[in-house]
Amino acid sequence: MSTAFWLDNFGIPVSLFEADERVGGVINTTLKDGFLIEHGPSTLQGRTNELLETIDAAGLKDEVLYANDIQKYRYILKRGKPVPIPLSPVSFATTNLFSLSAKLRLLGEPFIKPSGETDESVADFVIRRLGKEILDYAVAPFVGGIYAGDPEKISLRSTFPRLHALEREYGSVIGGMVKKMFDKSKSPRPKLFSFRNGLKTLPEKLANILGDKAETKSEVKNILPPNESASCYEVTVEKGGTTKIIKADSVVVSTPSFQTAKLIEPFSSDAVNDLRTIEYTPMAVVALGYKRKDIEHPLNGFGMLSPPCEPHKFLGSLWTSSIFIGRAPDGSVLLTNFIGGSRHPELTELEPEKLAELVHSSLEKLLGIRAKPILKEVYIQKKAIPQYTIGYHEKMNSLEEVERKYPGLYITGAFRGGVSVEDCIANGKATAVKISENFSKQNNVPLREAIDV
Ligand SMILES: Cc1cc2nc3c(=O)[nH]c(=O)nc-3n(C[C@H](O)[C@H](O)[C@H](O)COP(=O)(O)OP(=O)(O)OC[C@H]3O[C@@H](n4cnc5c(N)ncnc54)[C@H](O)[C@@H]3O)c2cc1C
Repeated sequence: MSTAFWLDNFGIPVSLFEADERVGGVINTTLKDGFLIEHGPSTLQGRTNELLETIDAAGLKDEVLYANDIQKYRYILKRGKPVPIPLSPVSFATTNLFSLSAKLRLLGEPFIKPSGETDESVADFVIRRLGKEILDYAVAPFVGGIYAGDPEKISLRSTFPRLHALEREYGSVIGGMVKKMFDKSKSPRPKLFSFRNGLKTLPEKLANILGDKAETKSEVKNILPPNESASCYEVTVEKGGTTKIIKADSVVVSTPSFQTAKLIEPFSSDAVNDLRTIEYTPMAVVALGYKRKDIEHPLNGFGMLSPPCEPHKFLGSLWTSSIFIGRAPDGSVLLTNFIGGSRHPELTELEPEKLAELVHSSLEKLLGIRAKPILKEVYIQKKAIPQYTIGYHEKMNSLEEVERKYPGLYITGAFRGGVSVEDCIANGKATAVKISENFSKQNNVPLREAIDV
């Protein structure tokens, strides 16, 4: 969507084909009984210029809804209680989230030599530099809650490139973070946000601007490379039982990797094999609404994450109505809970009603809930989040190779260059810029000012 939107903005003819009856992919929002519920992503960070530029160019600035300040408080579950994540050196020194020995262990981190390992798991890296307790009660809950992933399997360099770079550049994670904190040239801390009517506002608006250039219920069946008889790509699209063939100078394949593998079969067997081995974890989103008076906990924060070493079945719980205004009717609260991931994939096989019960029974004790939920909505995605596991980096080589071999072919999506919505938008815009540059060279026309990035 991002690529198509920007190409259109640059004045380049574009067609977008979406198999589903709606645009947005995993981004979707439902309004039910006064609760505004996200099926997938809930928040954007505003780390990249591309996201802000897209919002601006789409005329959505006035729809942006910033998170309440309370979102800076976050909790980790320990021995059956939500414990606040320390936000300052003083609160770190006094928190009972980590033992005294775990805290003292951190003092030695700057003296640990970088490892020669090129592709280390997140777990190995954290244990080596920061200790097992930091893995258990800080990093693993985060990896589970955000990536639905397993820190033993995911690659540090591919999933957290900035953390990987800190060790390489500064020789120390803590030292590097402290230096960056005092770096005057760094941009201000991004502010978490969504839109007044939820995240689906963004893809819907982009589709609206694209008009009939964005076709839904249109499944791409195959793509053929240029050959002696055809100088351009041929894309076969099926819509409502009829098939059409589109000829294009450039093709951007932005489907999930397992779909992309099928579509690029005529191009490269190596890339197909690599794409097929990218794992996706399943995830269920369980949205529960309660009367405020029935919950003892003040819900004064972003939410809580559950470490794998604690007995709870869910990965994390967002206190959605504390983060954003207008997410629940007056006197009610909305909690958005995540369950499954690589920790408990089998749970996503349960019936939605069972999943809601399971989450409710965990939250009941943790938050002091005295009544049944007044709203239950469950959304299950069998292939939710791509995992950048060890060896992922090498898999990307075959994609680069196929793109080099076939100029005009671009492969993008959450399995490449970052899973966040923001990364997808930034990579989408970068692709549009590359296509525009080629278009301008081939057609001998100047680049529009808008492409000035
Ligand atoms: C539960 C959950 C919570 C998340 N939370 C956050 C968050 O808070 N913040 C954040 O930044 N990120 C979050 N993410 C990650 C982020 O939402 C996704 O990684 C990102 O939106 C994926 O975008 P995508 O375009 O790559 O893929 P998708 O959204 O999967 O889009 C791919 C599209 O391709 C279409 N398609 C497939 N095959 C074909 C075909 N043959 N022809 C035509 N169309 C086809 C599909 O219908 C789909 O619409 C979350 C993800 C999940 C699952």
